[in-house]
Amino acid sequence: MKRISKYVLLPLSLLFLAGVLTLSVSAANVKPKAPKITAVRNVKQGLVISWKTVEPADGYIIYRQKSGSSGWKRLADIDNTNINSYVDRSVKHSVTYTYSLKAVYGKVKSDGSAVKKSKTFVAAPEIKSVENIRAGVKLQWKKYKNTTGSKIYRKITESEKWHRIGTVSGNNNIFVDRSAESGVRYIYQVRQSVGNIMSVREGSVAMKTFVAAPEKLTLKCTLDGIVLNWSQVQGCSNYSVFRMIQGESEWKRIAKRKTGVLTYTDKKAPVGKTVHYKVRAYINSGSIGAFSFSEKIKRVDPKRKMVALTFDDGPYSPVTNQILNILEKYGARATFFVVGSRVSTYSDCVTRAAALGCEIGNHTYNHTTLTSASDSRIISEIEDTNRVIRRYTGKGASIVRAPGGAVNSRVRQIVNYPLVNWSVDTLDWQHRNTAKVIASVKSSVSDGSIVLMHDLYPTTGNAVQVIVPWLVNQGYQLVTVSEMMRYKGIKLSSGNVYSHA
Ligand code: ZN
Repeated sequence: MKRISKYVLLPLSLLFLAGVLTLSVSAANVKPKAPKITAVRNVKQGLVISWKTVEPADGYIIYRQKSGSSGWKRLADIDNTNINSYVDRSVKHSVTYTYSLKAVYGKVKSDGSAVKKSKTFVAAPEIKSVENIRAGVKLQWKKYKNTTGSKIYRKITESEKWHRIGTVSGNNNIFVDRSAESGVRYIYQVRQSVGNIMSVREGSVAMKTFVAAPEKLTLKCTLDGIVLNWSQVQGCSNYSVFRMIQGESEWKRIAKRKTGVLTYTDKKAPVGKTVHYKVRAYINSGSIGAFSFSEKIKRVDPKRKMVALTFDDGPYSPVTNQILNILEKYGARATFFVVGSRVSTYSDCVTRAAALGCEIGNHTYNHTTLTSASDSRIISEIEDTNRVIRRYTGKGASIVRAPGGAVNSRVRQIVNYPLVNWSVDTLDWQHRNTAKVIASVKSSVSDGSIVLMHDLYPTTGNAVQVIVPWLVNQGYQLVTVSEMMRYKGIKLSSGNVYSHA
């Protein structure tokens, strides 16, 4: 390094001092050029104003005007000439702001920017909640005024591109992602627009692993207790069973099932009371999950009287549903011996009956008299019917009623199911008289009776509206044929004919 002598150093510093003085003198007189605003952009935090720096200058002053007002607000002073952008965080959603800038040089200010740029700030919507509901993942974001629409985006991995899964109009702020798959973790993002201006992508992000609800919960009354069975939820092996007994107002968790067990027997269900159940699938030690629909059942009291109402030749929605309504109202069950060829047409009431705990029996496919049908015809009549019952209820019938109750030794040998006849014949199909149906039941019913009716006739449907409450009032429990046999200790076997318990 070259050494500089003291003699040289002194004059140099003097010269430098003189230079500074000269500069400050001129700064007092020179008016800086007006800076040019190059862009105003919408970002997550607010609006970003960018400009072209000017020389000479010591700094800048930013001014802002809100749409609808005539005054300018001095927004910020910037005393660094290297800075050429500023984030205005004090902006409000859907308000248009115009910006202007002045350069400052000493005590002199430039004119305001020649070009004043305006921009409407559109906030990136803040996601308030992500909920696991039965239908999917429910997103809710803060409600913003003047929003004209929102778009919802989703992805699974961080590196993946966002893809749009839905839009909502106006300032609606709720969306349910119904296409979420159980067990999958999703990342969500919402953007909103005001007219044709859209918020940035980098809004708030929400994550959720979706857990679906068990779709189907079936209840069965057995000697052991109430047996619950439910459908598996994808990506989930933990379930909790909840119970609410008639008269209570709160659900109680009564069991936890892990490692994919899809059944539970509630041995402590009280007899003679309606008991409600629901099952929750969950992950993450219970924090995320969804409940099945609740189902209810009345546990049979083996010490009390029982009767099995049976309905043949249906289903036929107008009458079958009328019967199901009154059964549901009283927590009662019955057995429907359906004709296979009718099931698809009225499948909704077959599904409903099964869901209410009623039994679906087999009454052949074409209401064929089995005693005069060929061996192979007997088999197809029974099997075709069971196939269509299975399609709508998940399982085939376990009992058969031959049309007309007509059986002989050949039929008994071929039909591979217990055959069920009746002990009380209302002859409802013959007289089609409501009063006679009622009278017939009242005069003949006793503990263990199997009552024959037909859910084809409105006269029968009307009679059942009286019969059900009457029987309940008489202390009868209305149960299915299979239940009654089980409680009465009668084992059903294939080819045998049963007409009461
Ligand atoms: Zn029949």
